Amino acid sequence: MTREVPAAGVPLIELQDIRKSYGPASSESTDDAESLPPAMVLRGISLKLFAGEFVAIVGASGSGKSTLMHILGCLDRPSSGRYLFEGEDVAGFDADALAWLRREAFGFVFQGYHLVPTESARENVEIPALYAGMPEAERRVRATALLERLAMGARLDHRPSQLSGGQQQRVAIARALMNGGRIILADEPTGALDSQSGAEVMKLLNELADAGHTVILITHDRNVAAQARRVIEIRDGQIVADSGGAPSAISASTAAPAAPAAPAASRRNARHAPQASLAADLHEAARAAWRVMWSNRFRTGLTLLGIVIGVASVIAMLAVGSGSQQQVMAQFETFGVRTMFVAAREGSVRAPGAPLTLADVDTVRGLANVEAVAPYIEDRVVVRRGNVDHASEGGGTTVGFAHVLGWGVSEGLMFEEADEQRVAKVAVIGQTVRRALFADGTDPIGQDVLIDKVPFQVVGVLAAKGTSDGEDQDDRVVVPFSAAAARLFGHQNPTWIGVQVRDMEQATQTAEAIETELAARRRVRDVRVWNRVEAIRVQSATARAMTMMLGLIAAISLVVGGIGVMNVMLMTVRERTREVGIRMATGARQTDILRQFMTEAVLVTSVGGTVGVAVGLFIVAALMLAGVPVVFSLLASIGAFGCAVLTGLVFGFMPARNAARLDPVVALASQ
Ligand code: ADP
Ligand code: MG
Repeated sequence: MTREVPAAGVPLIELQDIRKSYGPASSESTDDAESLPPAMVLRGISLKLFAGEFVAIVGASGSGKSTLMHILGCLDRPSSGRYLFEGEDVAGFDADALAWLRREAFGFVFQGYHLVPTESARENVEIPALYAGMPEAERRVRATALLERLAMGARLDHRPSQLSGGQQQRVAIARALMNGGRIILADEPTGALDSQSGAEVMKLLNELADAGHTVILITHDRNVAAQARRVIEIRDGQIVADSGGAPSAISASTAAPAAPAAPAASRRNARHAPQASLAADLHEAARAAWRVMWSNRFRTGLTLLGIVIGVASVIAMLAVGSGSQQQVMAQFETFGVRTMFVAAREGSVRAPGAPLTLADVDTVRGLANVEAVAPYIEDRVVVRRGNVDHASEGGGTTVGFAHVLGWGVSEGLMFEEADEQRVAKVAVIGQTVRRALFADGTDPIGQDVLIDKVPFQVVGVLAAKGTSDGEDQDDRVVVPFSAAAARLFGHQNPTWIGVQVRDMEQATQTAEAIETELAARRRVRDVRVWNRVEAIRVQSATARAMTMMLGLIAAISLVVGGIGVMNVMLMTVRERTREVGIRMATGARQTDILRQFMTEAVLVTSVGGTVGVAVGLFIVAALMLAGVPVVFSLLASIGAFGCAVLTGLVFGFMPARNAARLDPVVALASQ
């Protein structure tokens, strides 16, 4: 007798002194305590069952029949004793291997039918094949054929609630046969049926036994039990009578199992082999998840709402936040964002102020964190072209000013270092000056104008700046510093110095350093620095903080949405505990259950995420139309959607794992 290849003499199932007791905590019923030692339900069951047998296990209610069946069907483990399946001890099987055994060897028929209420008759029958990895088309054909064989062909698409008890039990029998059903375990299959339906079910079981299936029938009814070929009587958890069971009782022809047993070695491999492609599994899980979501539309909708609000608010709030941030930055971009200004204080009668000098410019240029400086000499001038006069702001500066002030030309060129050297009479004019003097549409580039009666050639037009601090920033003409000093103003004292700092964070220190250094050089503290950089830094930091806060609020609402998902998933798992038990009894592995509930959670959140993105875009568009400064970010939208899906994964995991870890027997007994 070898364990690897079961010989005819090896029992299909052998129980050796099986005992089962429930923990003291679970023995709450006082009735049992009188007849049995506390919660000792099976008290030394030894039994050999052979392939092809039709056995009835009969006993009074509470005698331990169902407990025995759960152990026989590997839904439950005994407290002690050995269970040999084809000579192999199942004590060494892990949860997945047991699921495999249930899937491949057993088909369960329960008193309460135990069909999945949300699935049609055919889909219920398909479930075991689903976990065995049978392709969808094949599954469909086989389930249909089985139901037709059981006279259920006309009700393939009926839900369990639309079927009578007898019909539901026939669906359950078809399900038990789906994977071959070598061993049919039927626990009081006629218990809930009227006598005629019960008789039909018994007839079916008889036929299955004739066809070579091993049928184990559990019943409290002696008349029902009498129809089996071997009757085992059980009382108070012990076998009190057995009408037979010698291997000789089974003829060789009937012993042929409906599904031939695989050699133990290949079985061991199959046990852990992937059952179906991941894509097919996911498709199936998504279909089932959608069905469940749809049948709980209202609840699903509320959960979705949480996610939709979360995602939409992330998108809208980030858009508003970065919109206002951008607006703050735009306000300062008239001048360079990293530029501050140095000017001498106005003198008083008692102490007339000394003007800035080029030496001061050099001092500032030499300080740390100063990237560039531009001296600017400025006064009112009159610009004339032909017979048109225009009073404007005349300025002279070095070529670096364009960089320091963030100024550029929109037409023509900026003057160059060579113009500075040559004291060239060239000028760039602002848009307002251009409009005033060149209203006739002449191209200003190359034209001559008079600035305070000195002829200058226009080489460029400054890009529009608009109004800042109530002044028209486009009403100016700018010429090289040397030309302004020599030809217009007659002195070299800058009115102010533009200073560009390298690091915004250091702006305040740099401003102080400028004041200190110039005070030391000029021997009087009469210079003031307009440090706009610091203000810009603070304002943009504020805007950034606001964006972050808005984002945080949005993220919190997303988390709240996620908690909603978890809540619903926990509820759904609780409600469907029995369904989990049914799926496990038909061979689902823990990963199958985990995947199913995770898919449901992720499906809810991805649908919510998609709707949320749409709503978010709609809000952003509406705000845009209303003139609110918003900056739409594709990245934020993708991120928000991703977060929603992630929320499903994270918050769905705990409930899904709870479901996957359920004990099959406990799950089946729920509700
Ligand atoms: P039968 O199916 O023969 O009516 P069962 O096997 O269902 O009997 O139950 C046998 C005994 O075990 C009963 O007294 C029952 O109360 C007890 N029992 C069954 N399941 C549990 C359980 N999960 N926890 C505690 N006691 C249980
Ligand atoms: Mg029972």
